[in-house]
Amino acid sequence: MNYFERSNEAFLATYGRFDITLDHGKGVYLYDVNSKAYLDFYAGIGVNSFGYQYEPYVNSLQEQLHGLIHVSNYFNTKQSVEAAEAILKATNLSKVFLCNSGTEATEGALKLARKYYFLKHGKADSEVISLQHSFHGRSTGSVTLTGNPRYQEGFGPLISGVKYGTINDLDSIKELISPKTSAIIIEPIQGEGGVHVCTKEFLQGVRSLCDNYDIVLILDEVQCGMGRTGTMMTYMQYDIMPDIVCLAKGLGAGFPVGAFVANNKVGIALQPGDHGSTYGGNPLAGKVITTVFKILQEENMLAHVRQISTYFIKQLDDLVDTFDCIVERRGLGLMQGIEFTIPVNSIIRQALSKGLIMVTAGTHVIRLLPPFIITTEDVDKMITICKEVIHEIQR
Ligand code: PLP
Repeated sequence: MNYFERSNEAFLATYGRFDITLDHGKGVYLYDVNSKAYLDFYAGIGVNSFGYQYEPYVNSLQEQLHGLIHVSNYFNTKQSVEAAEAILKATNLSKVFLCNSGTEATEGALKLARKYYFLKHGKADSEVISLQHSFHGRSTGSVTLTGNPRYQEGFGPLISGVKYGTINDLDSIKELISPKTSAIIIEPIQGEGGVHVCTKEFLQGVRSLCDNYDIVLILDEVQCGMGRTGTMMTYMQYDIMPDIVCLAKGLGAGFPVGAFVANNKVGIALQPGDHGSTYGGNPLAGKVITTVFKILQEENMLAHVRQISTYFIKQLDDLVDTFDCIVERRGLGLMQGIEFTIPVNSIIRQALSKGLIMVTAGTHVIRLLPPFIITTEDVDKMITICKEVIHEIQR
């Protein structure tokens, strides 16, 4: 049996995996077990910001492997404290909890917001507003926040009190607010839901509503945060601050880490024993996080993201103009979606056979989340393969 067949035997059938088996990577290329090269425009779903075998990243992790890997949160380590401080500096927030994934970050943020409400009202009957087509994770709490029945069906009963508004429709949020609303959770750019960008008017409007009613604003930047859109946090382009931000993916750039970060007002609600994690922020994870921030800063990565994304967006817009089967491009920085009039599965598969990796966001949208280190040549190559594939499909 080959690896694909063995994988089908061994794993629960939760993923529709591609029929290639990856072996290693270098720069923006992945290689399969037959040494075939793939240009990577998905970066492990927006995780591998520095591509593969990025030396400063690998060296720093290697160094830590010879030190401490894990001790539990009964003890501080230099690495965990430095990681926490780096996150606070990058987010302009005040208190952080370190965890291991995006799901844990949103689940923890939900608990924090509910506890804040409980301390105010003395009752655990709070409601939360999320958005349709959002994605916040797969645990029972986070999948309830996820405004997509496809991810929820069969897993009930879900948590109670979650309602779903519409992106960029402030009235739809106003209508859902009640005296029991504890939090509103929003992705500044919906990733899984089809790469939909919040307008400034909408996010600022939601911020004002939260201020008026003392509702906790949670921004889920698991996918769009950590430099992907050209600023450290996407909310920095909206001139607002969240009460809590959720991070993962690019926070570890390959190693599984997550965080939820709060301001002082809300953060104070969690006290000893209220929440915890065996692994969260262990010394290796801490070193990963400080290394990511160090690389972003020392290598001037955000400036590169802004520069290359201008070129990237221009080439994508030209692609949109070239083909009738493309509806539009949406996105900010290196988080882009191309909506087609046709299902995109066959485009993704054919591109893969030509050595280009992209992912979907729903049935009709190709999602592009390349590593930050891409060059104009990589963009040109990606566009050339896309054109070839679309021409072939249209024939
Ligand atoms: N929130 C957002 C916005 C995401 O895009 C994701 C994953 O794609 C998650 C939460 C869940 O993160 P994880 O898969 O690390 O649990």
